[in-house]
Amino acid sequence: AAGQGDLPPEIWEKVKNHPCYSEQAHHHFARMHVAVAPACNIQCNYCNRKYDCANESRPGVVSEKLTPEQAARKVIAVASTIPQMTVLGIAGPGDALANPAKTFKTFELVTATAPDIKLCLSTNGLMLPDYVEQIAAMNVDHVTITINMIDPEIGAQIYPWIFYNHRRFTGVEASKILSERQLLGLEMLTARGILVKVNSVMIPGINDRHLIEVNKAVKSRGAFLHNIMPLISEPEHGTVFGLEGRRGPSAQELKALQDDCEGEMNMMRHCRQCRADAVGLLGEDRSAEFTTDKVMEME
Ligand code: SF4
Ligand code: SF4
Repeated sequence: AAGQGDLPPEIWEKVKNHPCYSEQAHHHFARMHVAVAPACNIQCNYCNRKYDCANESRPGVVSEKLTPEQAARKVIAVASTIPQMTVLGIAGPGDALANPAKTFKTFELVTATAPDIKLCLSTNGLMLPDYVEQIAAMNVDHVTITINMIDPEIGAQIYPWIFYNHRRFTGVEASKILSERQLLGLEMLTARGILVKVNSVMIPGINDRHLIEVNKAVKSRGAFLHNIMPLISEPEHGTVFGLEGRRGPSAQELKALQDDCEGEMNMMRHCRQCRADAVGLLGEDRSAEFTTDKVMEME
């Protein structure tokens, strides 16, 4: 991830306090996710809907779902307990932009009471072009898009369906729409100076070599950082829908792919695949200290 290097000052300003965008910042600054976005508008084969969105997060324990009001109270409680908390992200447990009313209401409430907290959201990108104006208007500085392919034939092995314009699309057609919307959304964000991180889930035998093409495509459209994450297949968490028996990559395979992409653009190598309700420094999870009950006691 990025160091100050020769970054323009206005970019460095946006990067230096964000633990995911700056390798140095992740030792000093904390982020929190609030789980206000339960619904999703696509199906990823690696997602088990019983858990948090695998775009950003490790399948694990289902997050406590919050209303925007509960989420805003939690943010204020965390910010007064953990002074290094600089970033609020909405990363599921479904898709932030499949729940736009909840996502934007949360941002609005937090900005009203804690204007210094930086806002961040994660999305599969399907609805992104429709919300770029609102994202810019709310001063959201950072957006993560999960892009696993640019070739709809490969996409068809990852996404069985999407729900778009009031109907369900399947197969290659679904992935073609998804890919066009993801890349358009990326271009629209970077044109407005919003920093974009692209997450990709490395699925051996499906998109592993293809992610080099994805890397080139997102770099040429202005993505700031590329974060290639391993598929996590944990049989104890239930069947990974549609990818039964598929293994995740080894640490060496992941590193080799990241090395092959390095040089093209900044690669993130310190992602912890946090839960949709993670709180604290990366690699640390203090979410249990800030359940709704405990937040109420703190007030
Ligand atoms: Fe699951 Fe996230 Fe994919 Fe939606 S976008 S299906 S929540 S992994
Ligand atoms: Fe940062 Fe990765 Fe955690 Fe998202 S999942 S907050 S990118 S470390």
